[in-house]
Amino acid sequence: MRTIALDFDGVICDSAEELARSSWMGNQVLNTGKSALDTVPIDFIRRFIELRPVIHTGFEGILLAEMIVNDFDDTDIRSDFSSLCSQLAARFRVEREELIEMFGAARDRWIDDDIDGWIRTHQFYPGTIDTIKRLRERMVDLAIITTKEKRFASRLLGPFDLRVSEDRVFGLAEGTKSDVLLRLSSEAPATAGSIIFIDDRLETLETIRDTTGLEMVELYLASWGYNSMEQRKRAEADSRINVLSLGEFIEWGKNKPYRLPSDSQTASLEIQ
Ligand SMILES: [Mg+2]
Repeated sequence: MRTIALDFDGVICDSAEELARSSWMGNQVLNTGKSALDTVPIDFIRRFIELRPVIHTGFEGILLAEMIVNDFDDTDIRSDFSSLCSQLAARFRVEREELIEMFGAARDRWIDDDIDGWIRTHQFYPGTIDTIKRLRERMVDLAIITTKEKRFASRLLGPFDLRVSEDRVFGLAEGTKSDVLLRLSSEAPATAGSIIFIDDRLETLETIRDTTGLEMVELYLASWGYNSMEQRKRAEADSRINVLSLGEFIEWGKNKPYRLPSDSQTASLEIQ
């Protein structure tokens, strides 16, 4: 059986606005010790969404918010995001774990207060949910590997009846994406193309590309997610990483015989 593993944010779901709002609230906790469910300035949200590609894990949004509020230069944020994060964390004397907790608590508070509003702030990319359902109907093993906390991803996916079981949703606590892919590939001997992984973050795909034991995993950069033109060009020049458009992904769910762009030119692959 073929496994298709998908990242969540920036592949299935556009959560940039939600992340901006949760980060704003988390940033208030960082600065004042408490979060208020108040109005988030629209200019802040716009700038946050523009800078969204720098974020690897949600809690870093608290620090990106700090940079935006203090009007750091966008070019510096883009080129030095991780060292700026370290500097700010040192200045506030907070560890990664505290930031994760602060961020999760701010988001939890929002969910408790207004679950419908929270869900409405997320937009699923058009066609992704139906494509996952179609692939499931065709017996493709689906997994979701995200740096989001699992409870948040499950809550968003819950209403869709995707038939992706809970144990195929891997969240922040389950290690890096490389760790999870190593576990998936140990379930069955991996052959070329038996595991496909789609993520919108090029650096993540590059790390997986360089991980021993994951040589057989086919890697796709979701061009519709949080990445820049320059990153898509870098992916195109990489022999291991393929750039995938949303239209191409949707075709994976539609076409018979089932065929992926990377399948050999001669044989199309029937999976039923
Ligand atoms: Mg992503």
